[in-house]
Amino acid sequence: MPADATPPAWHRAAIDACVATIAAEADTLTELDSAIGDGDHGTNLKRGFDALAAEADTLADQPTGAMLQRAGTTLANKVGGASGALYGSLLMMMGRQLGGRPLDPATLAEALGQGVEMVKKRGRAEAGEKTLLDVLVPVQRELDRAVDAGEGDRADLAHRLRACADNALESTRAMTATKGRASYLGERSAGHLDPGAASACLLIGALADLAEDRT
Ligand code: ADP
Ligand code: MG
Repeated sequence: MPADATPPAWHRAAIDACVATIAAEADTLTELDSAIGDGDHGTNLKRGFDALAAEADTLADQPTGAMLQRAGTTLANKVGGASGALYGSLLMMMGRQLGGRPLDPATLAEALGQGVEMVKKRGRAEAGEKTLLDVLVPVQRELDRAVDAGEGDRADLAHRLRACADNALESTRAMTATKGRASYLGERSAGHLDPGAASACLLIGALADLAEDRT
């Protein structure tokens, strides 16, 4: 990643990649939510990411921290459901933590760390409860480990984070939900992937693809 501010072109590419991923996978996310929730996760996220697409030019022109804060506000307002408040809080806190600093692995790790703490607080949840935290927490830890060890280039890091997210998503299948609507099913929630963990994994995968290709 560049030492100077992340350019609008990369912001724009990141927004477009996330918007396209949610549009392509909305039905799958809704199916997952139909199995253990109320069948609206894909629809909820699509509404929010379509709103991001509508303001993509304005968003992309801002420094990364300000862009994340504004995107978080849009998601919190437009997504609805439990996931809207949680994804909104994640991005708002990441943006606040990043401030005016450019994005690099170390500042990303710091921002994600604070963002994940905010999601835990808002959701009154921890990892292991079959939620999006079951992808976010392992990815955040993997990023911290890589930054502490000073390991790898950007493409290696992106590859590693995508693999971590994929494994973490799969681990939600065996879990019993204790938070959110899926918790109403108790042990019957086991055997299904968590929809919020699935959307987190898809978004991380889309951003990792972009980071791997970026020159
Ligand atoms: P709703 O459950 O209100 O219909 P969505 O369907 O959009 O909202 O999102 C459901 C996802 O939100 C779940 O799969 C789970 O990952 C996440 N979630 C729900 N409640 C919580 C919570 N208290 N803490 C963390 N994540 C949660
Ligand atoms: Mg739902």
